[in-house]
Amino acid sequence: MAIDVICGMKVKEDTEIRTEYKGKTYYFCSNHCKMEFDKNPLKYTR
Ligand SMILES: [Zn+2]
Repeated sequence: MAIDVICGMKVKEDTEIRTEYKGKTYYFCSNHCKMEFDKNPLKYTR
């Protein structure tokens, strides 16, 4: 399991909703959360 850094939900790592940032993969519960991350990745990766 991975943690959706936007909303804190647990998500399965086989989800299609993911993004790579600085060599790390982030998983999301929904496209909404992914879009939020893509808008401002720095805010969520510190
Ligand atoms: Zn989420």
